[in-house]
Amino acid sequence: MKVVDKLVDIQNKIDASCERVGRDKSEVTIIAVTKYVSNERAFEAVEAGIVHLGENYEDGLLMKQEVLGDKPIWHFIGTLQTKKVKKIINKIDYLHSLDRLSLAEEIQKRADHPIKCLIQVNTSEEDSKHGIAKENVIGFIQELQKYDTIEIVGLMTMAAFTEDKDEIRRCFRELKSLQTEIIKLELLKTPFKHLSMGMSNDFEIAVEEGATMIRIGTSLVGE
Ligand SMILES: *Cc1c(COP(=O)(O)O)cnc(C)c1O
Repeated sequence: MKVVDKLVDIQNKIDASCERVGRDKSEVTIIAVTKYVSNERAFEAVEAGIVHLGENYEDGLLMKQEVLGDKPIWHFIGTLQTKKVKKIINKIDYLHSLDRLSLAEEIQKRADHPIKCLIQVNTSEEDSKHGIAKENVIGFIQELQKYDTIEIVGLMTMAAFTEDKDEIRRCFRELKSLQTEIIKLELLKTPFKHLSMGMSNDFEIAVEEGATMIRIGTSLVGE
């Protein structure tokens, strides 16, 4: 199936989810996750009108950028190894996986401009998932204040890996409530509006719960 056709289907589902909860669909940005697909398929996504692309490996990102250039808005969504920061940090527009102070320190050393970062939160409490425990996020944000290359723009999570829709919804709802709490505390001077949550299998729930960025691989660009 062509990416354009899949995109229409996803957009319809986003519209329906927004309608169910009274959200404006313009608040939701689709990030096409191209990690599994060829350069040609990623190019097809761009041709279909997709502006935001996501990659989760450093080398994959560099390879795709070589072909697609810097016209797309690039999101790094995977765990970023400290030693690879210098290779990619000035080539991305958003980092979705800020999850430790040592990473922030390395970014501070290597970035030549402020980098838009989302803090990855482990809402599922599964050990295998990366991200900071909910209760540590506020302290983490306070510690990040000293880094002037870290511009915190939101939170990211991956929901529990389960068929249980209530459990998935709980993960997304917790991210939203954490965002609300942080905004109330007025810890940040910059807008803190993004919630990066929802993938192929659960983006409709994520949109209902307030996602502003959904990261879609398989069901959008999958071949
Ligand atoms: C691969 C990946 C996605 C997209 O997953 P799909 O299920 O293929 O939509 C989203 N977020 C992260 C962090 C990923 O690694």
